[in-house]
Amino acid sequence: MGSVTAEDEDLEAFRARARAFLDDHADRRPADEPFVWGRGDDFVGIVEEGDPETEAAAVAAARRWAATRFDAGFGWIDGPVELGGAGLSGAHVRAYRGLEAAYDLPDLSIFTIGLGMVAPTIAAHARPEVAARYLPPLHRGDVIACQLFSEPGAGSDLASLSTRAVRDGDEWVLDGQKVWTSNAHHAGIGEIICRTDPDAPKHAGMTAFLVDVHAPGVEVRPLRQMTGGAGFNEVFFTGVRVPDSHRLGGVGEGWGVALTTLMNERASIGSGMGLARGPGPFERLVALTRFVGADADPVTRDRLARLYTTHVVNGLTAKRATAALRAGGLPGPELSILKLAGTQHLLAIAEYVAGVLGPALCADNGEWGTFAWTKLVCGVPGGRLGGGSDEIVRNIIGERVLGLPREPR
Ligand SMILES: Cc1cc2nc3c(=O)[nH]c(=O)nc-3n(C[C@H](O)[C@H](O)[C@H](O)COP(=O)(O)OP(=O)(O)OC[C@H]3O[C@@H](n4cnc5c(N)ncnc54)[C@H](O)[C@@H]3O)c2cc1C
Repeated sequence: MGSVTAEDEDLEAFRARARAFLDDHADRRPADEPFVWGRGDDFVGIVEEGDPETEAAAVAAARRWAATRFDAGFGWIDGPVELGGAGLSGAHVRAYRGLEAAYDLPDLSIFTIGLGMVAPTIAAHARPEVAARYLPPLHRGDVIACQLFSEPGAGSDLASLSTRAVRDGDEWVLDGQKVWTSNAHHAGIGEIICRTDPDAPKHAGMTAFLVDVHAPGVEVRPLRQMTGGAGFNEVFFTGVRVPDSHRLGGVGEGWGVALTTLMNERASIGSGMGLARGPGPFERLVALTRFVGADADPVTRDRLARLYTTHVVNGLTAKRATAALRAGGLPGPELSILKLAGTQHLLAIAEYVAGVLGPALCADNGEWGTFAWTKLVCGVPGGRLGGGSDEIVRNIIGERVLGLPREPR
């Protein structure tokens, strides 16, 4: 028998405490729970219920659970104690997540952008007092954050953005329009990149801010998608005032701040693409295959085996990347591989599901498993764009990871 280290014991004690907390506050999922694709199973962290009342209830439930968890010391496990975190390690975070997955809890994907992308950017670039003001409520679910980058004329070429910020004493005045802003209709704050020097070279003339989404002059208009939901929005800024204290990074250094967010975005989207909530994606596919009676078909079994292989390889890549980040590494361009691999895998799943279900994919005949996958099938093409399109991600991998020649400008 190997010896038990102090850290093992500490982790075991932590696990017991976490289990007791979860048992007190939630029900365990039945081990044989059948999977129906539905509420809260989005794969890019966008809440899009379609019906505003159901959506509001889902967001309220997510906030309640985030607050309960935070107050019990499990909401920001590796966060600094002075800001309300538990001051523990990444191993504790992973241990808790492993336990929590077995319980029937509200979907927390509404917090994915805020915690996966905006919070790390705040930690890296905000003034300490601003970080202390926003990081605890972001982790407690009191504040939801959105990412205000894309514009009608600036998507892949983000540095072409034209939303202006003009300095006025201790404040900045914002005018312009953002688009495709996921969850802006639920957000309290947004990370925005603006043009502050129109005469500078385009990458040098931008500055990042944290903006209050409820400030006078901000208008949020939902956009409906082909999934049926309206998870993202157009956001208009007319004379919106932002204190200089809410600047992220230096004046003219917005591009570097944006890169921090984008790298965390690719890592966060890629690792989150395991469709982690509830039974794993592979179990879901197996259940579906058995249900429609295709599990004895050799071609179907072969396709399923291929999907399983990719599923395992992607999981290992995500683990390696997360381990490197937790060891203090910065998110690098290689994390783009996670995003691309995750998207390709979801496309393959969508294709498989469409093949196995046949017409039942889009005809709701009331039977278990039918129709329920349409949200995934209709949503995956969006995954090929959000967080950097497949082509852009391939360019990044080619140029910055493999060292291939740059694409012609
Ligand atoms: C589900 C979803 C959620 C999103 N959430 C947010 C959000 O919260 N906040 C936010 O700011 N934005 C968000 N976006 C926007 C997203 O970042 C943009 O859609 C993306 O950057 C692409 O920009 P675009 O849509 O303007 O397309 P374009 O940049 O116009 O691209 C159109 C096509 O041209 C290709 N292309 C462009 N340039 C090149 C090139 N150099 N080489 C090869 N091909 C190229 C692209 O790959 C794409 O296929 C979201 C998008 C989606 C789909």
